[in-house]
Amino acid sequence: MITRLRERKEPWDVVVIGGGATGVGVAVDAASRGYAVALIEQCDFGKGTSSRSTKLVHGGVRYLERGDIGLVVEALRERGLLRRNAPHLVHDRAFVVPTYDWWEGPFYGIGLKIYDLLAGKYGFGASRLLSREETLQRLPNLKQDGLRGGVVYFDGQFDDSRLLIHLARTAVDRGAVLANYVRAAALLAKGGVAAVDAESGGEWEIRSRVTVNATGAFSDAVRRMGDPQAAPLIAASQGAHLVFDASFLRSDTAILVPHTPDGRVLFAIPWHGHTLVGTTDTPIGQPELEARALEEEIDFILETAAGYLARPPRREDILSVFAGVRPLVKAGSAGNTAALSRDHTILVEGRLVTITGGKWTTYRHMAEDCVNRAAQVAGLAARGSVTREMRIHGHYEDASALGALAVYGSDAVCLQELLERWPDTLHPDLPYREAEVVWAVREEMARTLEDVLARRLRALFLNARAAIAMAPRVAELMAAELGRGDDWRAAEVERFLETARNYLPVN
Ligand SMILES: Cc1cc2nc3c(=O)[nH]c(=O)nc-3n(C[C@H](O)[C@H](O)[C@H](O)COP(=O)(O)OP(=O)(O)OC[C@H]3O[C@@H](n4cnc5c(N)ncnc54)[C@H](O)[C@@H]3O)c2cc1C
Repeated sequence: MITRLRERKEPWDVVVIGGGATGVGVAVDAASRGYAVALIEQCDFGKGTSSRSTKLVHGGVRYLERGDIGLVVEALRERGLLRRNAPHLVHDRAFVVPTYDWWEGPFYGIGLKIYDLLAGKYGFGASRLLSREETLQRLPNLKQDGLRGGVVYFDGQFDDSRLLIHLARTAVDRGAVLANYVRAAALLAKGGVAAVDAESGGEWEIRSRVTVNATGAFSDAVRRMGDPQAAPLIAASQGAHLVFDASFLRSDTAILVPHTPDGRVLFAIPWHGHTLVGTTDTPIGQPELEARALEEEIDFILETAAGYLARPPRREDILSVFAGVRPLVKAGSAGNTAALSRDHTILVEGRLVTITGGKWTTYRHMAEDCVNRAAQVAGLAARGSVTREMRIHGHYEDASALGALAVYGSDAVCLQELLERWPDTLHPDLPYREAEVVWAVREEMARTLEDVLARRLRALFLNARAAIAMAPRVAELMAAELGRGDDWRAAEVERFLETARNYLPVN
């Protein structure tokens, strides 16, 4: 990939900066229309927000409450398309809103019926009211004091960085060139970017007819490479999540707490055999790539969960804590130049097209809009988007039959061959096996220990201590694959421990 990036003489049609859901989505869309596309990511694919979501493919019950119907309809349609195009990675999940006040049953019951109706042919299943007994059958660890019943509804769930890797492979399957650990250091006046290879230190120019800025919370920094006076577009806010073992839910059903003390919603969701609880909304100043949960965010989640769970999780039960930064667009900041959809924003400044906001669920629609705009800016021959019906790499209908390899979809067959040589599991508390590390290096561009333990496998997000315990063996397997020596191994383990500390609460 690096060689192809360096050696191309003619300009690319589209160069994308940023390898999160937005940028990779744009690469998939543009490449599948037949444009020449390159994407660079300064760190690893998904290192930013796109590996740190609540893992929901959803219409957004919260937006419904705010009356933002257009947004909900768009997201519900995208939810349906995504389940169809990536059935190995998107699953239905039942959610229960527990009710404690007399008015809550009818109120949320009607709201969620509207949610069903808005989904139309993309529906995931009919919501309905539950009796107290039915509610407790589904959620045995729910607090029983004052419980009247609940409302069950259906939404989608996924593994965010896993889907991202499969989207990156989809883009490559369609002819795009993608590289991680290559940073855009400057914008070229003639179009394109000055790139720096973080591994070799090498610098070169990547010329393009149009440049897409898909850097999420860092969008303003890239815009200022072109115009140092550019008015800020982003108001960053972070959200934290806590992960516990499965016993805190003891169920396949998730909980939606519709009103937290700070006026938001809180989810408790089964995820990869664990319980994920979140999130918060904390305005922050300068965003950092490795976002860190604040102590007060951890306390807030623990306290809110304690209001609903009969056996509430304690601080010492936390297996992992992770935070992500929302790239929220400031109201009115895009002025008249922006094509504003209610959810995402596209801003054109010269030959730089910035796309930001939105959510994981709507990445495909965002990409379609963005490539339409980018093609105009670049003067490319107009070609329609084909991603609505396009299968995502690994597409496999009956993935659950693949057991622990389900997330790989049709790639599981190839992994099976590696498993014959590397069958051992890496830690007793997690299902991951050595063959998956080899696969991640050979097939999924994993370059560092963190790439494997945080984003190819989800060990760091599920159980930080287990991930730390796995690190030396994973480094050994990676070093053999990458042709690295003992120094690299030791330095990688050290570097990983430094990062992994952020995923453990301070006691
Ligand atoms: C707490 C939280 C929970 C969420 N939960 C959900 C959910 O359940 N469902 C849902 O649909 N959405 C959810 N979202 C929203 C969703 O996660 C984001 O909208 C989405 O991930 C944003 O993706 P992105 O590609 O725009 O940004 P990012 O994923 O942050 O990607 C930007 C990338 O640009 C790279 N970059 C920056 N500068 C440069 C440079 N100079 N050169 C090269 N690369 C650069 C960064 O390294 C980064 O990887 C959630 C968001 C948060 C914060």
